[in-house]
Amino acid sequence: MKTPVSDAKQVEHNPESREGHDIGRRNFIVTSAMAAVGTGAAGLLNPPSAQAADIRSTNSVRQGPYPTLGMAVYSATEPLQPFKFERRALGPKDVAIKLHYCGICHSDIHHGHEDWRKEKFPLVPGHELAGVVAAIGSSVSKFKVGDRVGVGCMVNSCHHCAMCDMGMEQYCENGAVFTYGSRDRDGTMTQGGYSTFNVVDEDFIIRVPDVVDLAEAGPLMCAGITVYSPFRRWSIGPGKKVGVVGLGGLGHMAVKIASAMGAEVTVITTSPSKVADATKFGAKDVIVNPDSADLSKHSRSLDFILDTAPYRHKLDKLITLLKQEATFCMVGAGKIDEPHEIGPFALLRTRNSFAGSQIGGIRETQELVDFCALHNIRPEIAKISMSDISDAWVNVVDKKARYRYVIDMKA
Ligand code: NAP
Ligand code: ZN
Repeated sequence: MKTPVSDAKQVEHNPESREGHDIGRRNFIVTSAMAAVGTGAAGLLNPPSAQAADIRSTNSVRQGPYPTLGMAVYSATEPLQPFKFERRALGPKDVAIKLHYCGICHSDIHHGHEDWRKEKFPLVPGHELAGVVAAIGSSVSKFKVGDRVGVGCMVNSCHHCAMCDMGMEQYCENGAVFTYGSRDRDGTMTQGGYSTFNVVDEDFIIRVPDVVDLAEAGPLMCAGITVYSPFRRWSIGPGKKVGVVGLGGLGHMAVKIASAMGAEVTVITTSPSKVADATKFGAKDVIVNPDSADLSKHSRSLDFILDTAPYRHKLDKLITLLKQEATFCMVGAGKIDEPHEIGPFALLRTRNSFAGSQIGGIRETQELVDFCALHNIRPEIAKISMSDISDAWVNVVDKKARYRYVIDMKA
């Protein structure tokens, strides 16, 4: 079901919101702010009469708070709906970003469907953000207005624990602040990238090189880094044979990245229609429908398996593809009440390891983006408008995405 953006719900419906008053004034600030940063979606929010510039809004644009239009989940069973809210005024280290694009990750759907936990609604998902810097706080040193930037799954962390010190903010011992659905350091709930604007601490912003198309930058911020980080951790490179389970948003990036690292990739897919694409993306071999296929000729052939498939699926047969001592790394995440099973002998006979991995740190994400720029690794994207998000979610769950939907905020 489509949800036209013009049916925007009003912010006073949101008990979490810091707003809820004086919609009229906000609407004109939205318009002025969006006009100043060139956001087409503003026209959907406001009648032309409200678009008269007011000199007072100029300061709002520079410093915030920033009126923002998002698409939010209001219930786990209904389509997303428009949601107007505000991004905070700039703190000294904050960067205001006009968002142009945001990728749709299956994690957004898990959150929206409450697969992992009860959520606080309305929730604006999205952690594959790409946009342009619109304003900077007084002590920002890494970015300037006009820079092309991205934001991934995190917008803050404690900055001082052992994990943060090592550049692994995703494992922050005091809890990283995730891009949406997370309690921010100021006590508010974070809202994600299915929106026109964001304000983020400069330490959690990724620079997008000129050669990277901004529409293709978003999927690097989650899908890209989530597969790159374990490949680096387990030293994937020339001479290594890597299995990639699931050819979706993460999986297709995994094939391209592991191939560029010099590894030989085998794709393991439940979709016969994806075999040709797997080869095109760089796979040397493809296994279709592993549950029913005879895997004996692939037995003990792989040095590493990266499993990107969501939801519960059979693992024991996949583990038989691993060589002695090799590692099976799970990055896909199923429903919290439907955990995976591993048989009693699956790992011990060849001393295999079963591991997990979560996104990557900020430094490593920049490294991944630069790696993709250097090797011309580009996600396969399909652009959609904000009003098409709910339909896109259905397609992702049905394995029909080829291979990442990216929301174009101007469409
Ligand atoms: P996606 O685009 O939907 O791709 C998942 C692929 O897995 C599908 O295209 C499909 O590939 C395969 N699959 C196998 N069984 C499936 C099933 N029952 N339902 C749907 N797909 C199935 O998803 P994604 O965005 O790549 O995310 C994949 C998983 O990784 C999600 O669980 C997500 O939450 C998780 N994730 C984890 C991290 C992390 O930090 N660890 C980061 C991002 C995402 P075939 O058609 O080839 O079988
Ligand atoms: Zn993601």
